[in-house]
Amino acid sequence: MVFKDNWNRRTFLGTLGALVGTIFTGRKAFAHPTVGAKAGPITGFGATGNVYEELGVTTVINGQGTMTVLGGSMMRPEVEAVMAMAGRHFVSIPDLEVAAGQRIAEMLKLPEGYSALVTCGAAAAMQSGLAGILTGDNPKFIEQLPDLTGMKSEVIIQKSHRNPFDHQLRATGIKLVVVESRDDLKKAINPQTAMMHFSNFADNEGQIKVQEWVKLAHENNIPAFNDAAADTPPVSRLWDYANMGYDLIAFSGGKAIRGPQCAGLLIGKKDLVAYALLNNSPHEDTLGRSQKVGKEEIVGMVKALESYLKEDHEALNKEWQRRLDFVSAQVTRIPGVTTSFPTPEIANHVPHLHIKWDSTRIKLTPREVTTALRSGKPSIVLSSGEHGEALSMNSFMLKPGEEKVIAQELVKFLKAHTA
Ligand SMILES: *Cc1c(COP(=O)(O)O)cnc(C)c1O
Repeated sequence: MVFKDNWNRRTFLGTLGALVGTIFTGRKAFAHPTVGAKAGPITGFGATGNVYEELGVTTVINGQGTMTVLGGSMMRPEVEAVMAMAGRHFVSIPDLEVAAGQRIAEMLKLPEGYSALVTCGAAAAMQSGLAGILTGDNPKFIEQLPDLTGMKSEVIIQKSHRNPFDHQLRATGIKLVVVESRDDLKKAINPQTAMMHFSNFADNEGQIKVQEWVKLAHENNIPAFNDAAADTPPVSRLWDYANMGYDLIAFSGGKAIRGPQCAGLLIGKKDLVAYALLNNSPHEDTLGRSQKVGKEEIVGMVKALESYLKEDHEALNKEWQRRLDFVSAQVTRIPGVTTSFPTPEIANHVPHLHIKWDSTRIKLTPREVTTALRSGKPSIVLSSGEHGEALSMNSFMLKPGEEKVIAQELVKFLKAHTA
């Protein structure tokens, strides 16, 4: 997934490079062909307006949501515009990070003593956030990571909260200490405990819930982290966990917030956020130097949050539901097909549509349907669940009208396999 992120980033910067290249060919449109000039009409790569087609890579209709592997989300036009503006000047990145963080903290009305940092994603926010807790502002420690000599070395996590993104925690050199009960937790806490980590989407699965986790952490003078990467909407999540007292919180910028794909947010206590930046690019000889954040992403994230806060979330929700109602109405005309509308309580908290059928009448598994639609023309991505248990989709990443294409292709395919 990270590989895909970098690929996207390079595509974007590559496009900028192509623009600069165009400028240097000395087109008449540019009296002063200099670095920092605006783009004219594009020739060569990108001239068709579809860079993916030009590279021979199929674009897909995304009924699965904000999946990094599919490119996350789409930036709003005004975010693209400010990113292009950001690309036309040089600036001190650390100064820009601090100023943007301050602006974001004000926009989100974060509690006193909190600030924010734009990272290259929520995963990066987790790694640099923890790195900052471990090193503080000690330059020797910062250079030394992931060698933890002289630092704390353990992070406590609930068993049901383990997930692929805890790799970013382990990358700092720490050992994850896995607990289930309150009693396990009590025994696990020791002088080597650096942090207590919470994966917000797993709140319902763990024995210790989100409010109690931070309370127990603070009773033991341990900082608490909440990975809330995919936990907007609702928009209030952006400040809820800071208000709850979490020391650090991570959000994805490139999911529902529709910021730059390679952006994320670390929200937290001012000192910890400052230590995280010391462990991150552009600072060299740091663990986070590989997590470069560009001026474009920093500025794009500020704009994306401004737009996201102003959005009519209720109206959006209605539109997302209307699209799913449309698909549901079409597919349930086929005998034996039924639908339901579950909304995940936490993370990807948007309307979903589940489609089921009588397997004696329609001889297909959910996976056979998603595989066929994926290789169809147009290529459509829906979900068949983690274990192929149910055909499901959401509509918040669809472009207008794509719900009609999905309905049409689904109906065609299901009908063709009806006994
Ligand atoms: C997407 C996600 C991440 C990573 O976010 P990026 O912004 O892609 O780095 C981390 N944790 C969870 C729970 C996620 O859903």
